[in-house]
Amino acid sequence: MSAGAASLTGATHLTDCHLCPFHCGARRATASGVCRVGAVSYVASEMLHYGEEEALRPAHAIFFSGCTARCSFCTAARFAFNPVYGAPVTAAHLTARILQRQAEGARSVCFIGGDPAPHIPLILATLATLGAQRTIPAVFNSNFYLTDAALDLLDGAIDIYLPDLKFGPATGAQSCGEAIGGMPDYWRVVTGAIARVAAQGKQVIVRHLLMPGHFECCTAPALTWLATQPAVQVSLLTQYLAPVHARGALARPLDQADVTRARRLAVDLGLQLVR
Ligand code: SF4
Ligand SMILES: [Zn+2]
Repeated sequence: MSAGAASLTGATHLTDCHLCPFHCGARRATASGVCRVGAVSYVASEMLHYGEEEALRPAHAIFFSGCTARCSFCTAARFAFNPVYGAPVTAAHLTARILQRQAEGARSVCFIGGDPAPHIPLILATLATLGAQRTIPAVFNSNFYLTDAALDLLDGAIDIYLPDLKFGPATGAQSCGEAIGGMPDYWRVVTGAIARVAAQGKQVIVRHLLMPGHFECCTAPALTWLATQPAVQVSLLTQYLAPVHARGALARPLDQADVTRARRLAVDLGLQLVR
């Protein structure tokens, strides 16, 4: 690959990774970054998925292994925290599978994980290989714990952004973003990244997962901030399911009163809700 092509696909991050705020500078061949994703991407599963938002489904969902976050309640831990789970893939593999799923009726191709951030070089190489053969939008479904360098790479390649805004604005080691999600400086990074792609005029659908015991610290401030981004659509996820390893309030089922409160607050704030 030429130096020019490498900078377009972000391949430089395979030797000096700065795709997320951990800024490991990792030589990815050694899988020594915080996410432990190596230079080769693994896919845990891919399928036509009917659970995405209405505008996207059925989506060709590609679940990459490995994640930049460490959410304590993750239900996908078996592949999110194991970056070599599943099958190793190349741009040629993914290109063929995306064209197959497109022919089967996929209305979007969604790059998910784990988190897709460490896989940006492969995603961009795949989209470049697909070129005009791809007729469905490319969707980046991410925790959005991203650097400006990552967002620069995605600009022009991704059609629809599907960020999570999970945790509230508290900072420090005891904040939800850091203590539960494993992402220091969560709020500044993620709201900044969402605001940036929204300002680019891209379609942005922000997902907020309601978590038991986190209405005041996470849900209310997240929805209130989203009201400052009128172009952004909001998808409230109310299907929280505690995994067996969840602890404390996160081990409980979601309180239906919180679901009602969240829906009412979203309406009161004038959010553009989608399902
Ligand atoms: S994507 Fe992985 S290797 Fe790259 S900076 Fe983030 S945690 Fe480190
Ligand atoms: Zn919280």
